[in-house]
Formats: sequence, C-alpha cells, structure tokens
Amino acid sequence: MTGICREGPEARRACMAREGRKRLYFIVAMGCQMNVRDSETLAGMLEEMGFSRAGTREDADLILYLTCCVRENAENKALGNVIWLKELKKIKPDLVICVGGCMMQVQGVAESLIARYPFIALIFGTHNLHRFPELLCRVLEEKRPVAEILDGDGDIVEGLPVKRGSAHSAFVNVMYGCDNFCSYCIVPYVRGRERSRSPEEILREVRGLVEGGTQEVVLLGQNVNSYGGGGNAFAALLRSVHETGIRRIRFMTSHPKDLSAELIACYGDLPNLAGHLHLPVQAGSDRVLAAMNRRYTREHYLKLVEKLRGVRPDVGLTTDIIVGFPGETRQDFRETLSLVREVGYDAAFTFIYSPRAGTGAYGLPDPVSMEEKTEWIEELIALQREITGRVLKAQIGSCQEVLADAPSARDPGWLGGKTGRGLMVNFPGAPDMIGRFVQVDIGSAGRNTLRGKVREEG
Ligand code: SF4
Repeated sequence: MTGICREGPEARRACMAREGRKRLYFIVAMGCQMNVRDSETLAGMLEEMGFSRAGTREDADLILYLTCCVRENAENKALGNVIWLKELKKIKPDLVICVGGCMMQVQGVAESLIARYPFIALIFGTHNLHRFPELLCRVLEEKRPVAEILDGDGDIVEGLPVKRGSAHSAFVNVMYGCDNFCSYCIVPYVRGRERSRSPEEILREVRGLVEGGTQEVVLLGQNVNSYGGGGNAFAALLRSVHETGIRRIRFMTSHPKDLSAELIACYGDLPNLAGHLHLPVQAGSDRVLAAMNRRYTREHYLKLVEKLRGVRPDVGLTTDIIVGFPGETRQDFRETLSLVREVGYDAAFTFIYSPRAGTGAYGLPDPVSMEEKTEWIEELIALQREITGRVLKAQIGSCQEVLADAPSARDPGWLGGKTGRGLMVNFPGAPDMIGRFVQVDIGSAGRNTLRGKVREEG
C-alpha cells in the first residue's frame, strides 16, 4: 500500500492554509521506542501540513499524546495527562488535542475516552497512523471530534514523511507486531501479528541515512530477530545493513528463542555491530518462564549468553525482568537473583507484574502480596546496582569510542554519549562534537554513568 491518504499533501496544505496562520505542535511519546519512531512520522506529517514544532506544550496549538498500555501505571499516566489538558483547553479553547498509540487499540478504551472527554479532537490507533493527516483535516474542517480505530494487523505503509529527533542516530522500523503471546503481554493484541518490511525498503532507508550523515541506526521491532518469519532472515538483514557503511548498528528488542547461531555469529563478524544486546529474560525460574509462555529455559538462555561472549567477550547485556508473576514463589525469585548474578548484566529494567485484561495470565491466582513483591524488586534492584557498579568500574583506565549525543543536562560545557556497549559517558566537549565519534579516556565511574576526557576526535 502506498500514499498517505485519500487526499494528497497539496490538499492537506490547502486545508491548513484555510486555517490562516502558522500553527505549532507538541508530541508526547510515552512507552517504548516504537512510539518514539511513530512520533517522528507524525511530526513529519504535521510539518508537511505546515505545522512547526513548539518549544513547550503550553505554546502549542495541537498537542498529540502517543499512549502506552504495557503496564497499568503507563495507562494511568496517559489518562492523567489527558485530564491535565482539559484545564489547558479552558485557557486555550482552540487547542486541538489528539490521542493515539497502543492504549487506543485496547477494546473499549477509545469509546470510553470519547464519552468521558469530549474535548479530545482526534482519537486514532496504531494501525491507521498513515491516515492521521486526513483525519486531522476532517477535525479542522468539520470542527467536530473524530475517532477512528482499525482492527486487524495494519498495513505496512512506505514513504511516509518523517521528522527525525536526531540527525546522527536514527530509528529504523524493520518489523511490526508480535506472534509470541507471552502470557503477561498485551502487545500482540494492540500491535497485531508480525509483519516485516522488505529488505529493499529498509536498505533504501539506511543508505539514505548514511548519505545524510547519520552515524548510528537502531533497527526496531517488537520481536526484531523474528524478522522475515524468523530463521536467518534477520542475520542476513544485519549483514546487508552493515554493508551500507553505517558506523554503528543497534537493534531491539530480541526474543531469546529467536537468537539464532547465525545472529550470534554476526557479533563476531560485523565490527560496526554495537557490542550490546538487550535480551529480556523476564524470570530465572523454568516454572515461571513456562507460565509466562516464553518458550525457552534458563539453561538455554545461559547457553546463549555463553555463545555470545564466545564471539564477542566484552559484549554488554541488558535485560527486562518481571517480579511477582502470578504463582511465583520466593524460591522462583531466588532463581532470578542467581541468574542475574551469573549473567552480570550491565543494566536491568525491572517491573512488578502488572495484570492486563485479555492476556493469558490475567486473573490467575496471585497470592503474593504487593508488599512482598516490593521487597523482592528492591532486593533485585540493589543486586543490579552492585553489578552495574562493578561493570562501570571495570571501564576505568580504558579508552572508549563514544558517539557524542547531546549536551549534558547537569554539567554546562559537558556532553553525553554512549559507548558501543551502550554505557553512558559524560565528558567535557564543544557542541560541534555532537554527532561525531570521539575517543574518551575513562577516568571515573558514577552510579550509572562514566566520566572521562576526549583523547582524539574520530
Ligand atoms: S515477545 Fe512477548 S513480551 Fe515481547 S512483545 Fe511479544 S508477546 Fe510481548
């Protein structure tokens, strides 16, 4: 499918011209990188329509929330933001409020928002992003709220405009949706079944980025290593992306069951493939992994880590862990702690299990109290903090290649960037270094970041 809507960009610009003045937009992307990448497409569409980016929400004529529904607190946060906008709308009656993202695909949510918050001008889902300009034109012309949520898996629409958040590091979608149905996860219900972009389209996009000076691409998918139906397709794609000459390649998120031998071999063969892998383990106990429908065992996971370190000894691993899955016992949790010790992750994103209606685990008996789950997660966080501290300290005295990313928020005159392994480094540097690779001598380590001095510019 091509084209972005029934009417072309000309018609949409004319629709904006009828509005008679330059309008400003502000987008808030909640949740994961997929939403961040979607927000770049929406920004591209808005700019094609004649909007410009606002510096703050308060300055904007149009505010767009891209919601997340992976955990209950993300949903509550999204709703809290929408309610806050009601107050802003009282001061700015012409403000156009749009809400999209995964939460809108959850059955009944869009209907409930329409009924409860009539000040929302436009509600859309994840499968009809490409129709956003047309829907917005309807809102502006007909001066009434519009809601459109499409069921099904959604089409892959190529050629949409994009306004990227960074000139030197770019998200590139390679696949959408997920077929795995992990029993705690709502993603397959809101993002649909797996579908992959063609290698030709992906490579065309990456080549264009390389020509434009982009240094790093992050290949994105909910289950990126089952790209193209699984097997060796993702490894083959990585090799082709590497041939474009892009300086650094990252990808996320991977499922351990799809981490093929061929993909592991890429870590030995492809120097521009960053030495980092985000490999969500979720739990260290086979009993809990089976109940989560993860389809691998602890032993299989640890074997993967061993093989990976066999080809790239200094690879940095990060992970996601759910604590307090229904039926998880203290003994199961101890197995998670022991796995975390054994792997020695650089970082772990830890969450207390959040029940999601419609998923396999919803409503399962869950006798462990929230108080106990909180104690468990605190123990896990403390352990990970200790391991992260050791990983960071081990870098002191080394020289790391860092992609300078942005000015440091805390220290004027300093920049922040990441090593290939994904470790954050702060160092004194001029703004013209941003977007370039620099060699940094690491002098000290804080709780989550390294500090150092630039040796020479790359
Ligand atoms: S692999 Fe599992 S956790 Fe990841 S998106 Fe798919 S269903 Fe959700």
